[in-house]
Amino acid sequence: MSSFSPRRLRRATLADGQVVDVEIDADKVGLVRPASTAPLALDDLDLEGWLLLAAPADPHTHLDKALSWDAIQPPSGDLDRAIASWLDYSSGVDEDEIHDRSLQAIERYLGNGTTAIRTHVDVPAEGDATRGVRAVARAREAFAGLIDVEIVALAGREIDPARMESALAAGADLVGGAPHLAPDEGGDLEALLRLAERHGVGVDFHADEALRHGTTLAHLSRRTRDWSVTRTASHCVRLSMLDDAELAPLLIDAARAGVGVIANPMTNLYLQGWGDPVATPRGIAPIRKLRAAGVVTAAGGDNVRDPFNPLGRADPFETAMLLVVAAHLSIEEAWDAVSASARRVMGLPPAGPVDGLRADLLAVRADSLAEAVASAPADRIVISRGRVVARADTTRWMVPRTRKEDQ
Ligand SMILES: [Zn+2]
Repeated sequence: MSSFSPRRLRRATLADGQVVDVEIDADKVGLVRPASTAPLALDDLDLEGWLLLAAPADPHTHLDKALSWDAIQPPSGDLDRAIASWLDYSSGVDEDEIHDRSLQAIERYLGNGTTAIRTHVDVPAEGDATRGVRAVARAREAFAGLIDVEIVALAGREIDPARMESALAAGADLVGGAPHLAPDEGGDLEALLRLAERHGVGVDFHADEALRHGTTLAHLSRRTRDWSVTRTASHCVRLSMLDDAELAPLLIDAARAGVGVIANPMTNLYLQGWGDPVATPRGIAPIRKLRAAGVVTAAGGDNVRDPFNPLGRADPFETAMLLVVAAHLSIEEAWDAVSASARRVMGLPPAGPVDGLRADLLAVRADSLAEAVASAPADRIVISRGRVVARADTTRWMVPRTRKEDQ
């Protein structure tokens, strides 16, 4: 089956309950009008019974690690254990192995409706510095025009600017790292910021990933408040443990500086709290407080079946569901975090079934957004830049219900 560019999406249900026809004008949405009763044309796509949403985006993934769990069979455990399992395995893999898993992971994201991904890719301290970036850049090329993939060069514990420079030259778009793991946290962050400044590229750091010590968010906000490129603090687990008096100045500075935050509920629920078997903290960034302070806050799926998270479906409905039950967002706030706000934090133009926006859309078999987040429907139609690029229609057979009148 080849991709299909419909002229109109007919009889689609929007999240507010309206049933509409949506014109598609190349890669943009045209007029959105109440559904007409006119017969369907050949180039119409009938969406009667489908909920039409903006296509989601995942602003925090690790394509180079994805889908490695079965090969590694790592022990369960916290962040240190996951890092050790990954480093032990990854020292022996080649570019093609990373490329194959990246392709499979992108296919899952796109098939589930995600039309933009930001992925962190390791720049290892030893060996071939650009192996992972080359592998993921090749996978990105294979999906060119279908899904946007931003690559963040993820520095290891010891920063080597030359190795990071080569990662940028090999296709990385942003500078990243996990300075909270470095012996000299501030020095490490500074070295990475100076590198980004030299290249005029954005940054996305693993700002912290522990409950009781450290966050580089304050340093990042203070140091980059005059920058115009995208700046993001990922995880921000530590913020979930701070009281309002400690938190307020951090949030004010981040909002003023225009630093976005990306929470990663699934990985944080898995990796955090191993040392707290009673009243285990959740370790999810305080999204509602961040939003109230004016910080653009999104959420990512982070790890998909690797030592950092054995589960994960590469599905935005999974992340949104977790935001509702574990971070207490409303269903609408949760969906925003994996769609509109995710695109904002990635610096992408808005998308959705609204006149003039990019025609990146996801239709699912559901009556409402609440039903969609609750049930993560398998039946989906993915539209990227005005083109249908993936479709799933499931069939189910069930034994007929026993009717009382037959007994
Ligand atoms: Zn990460």
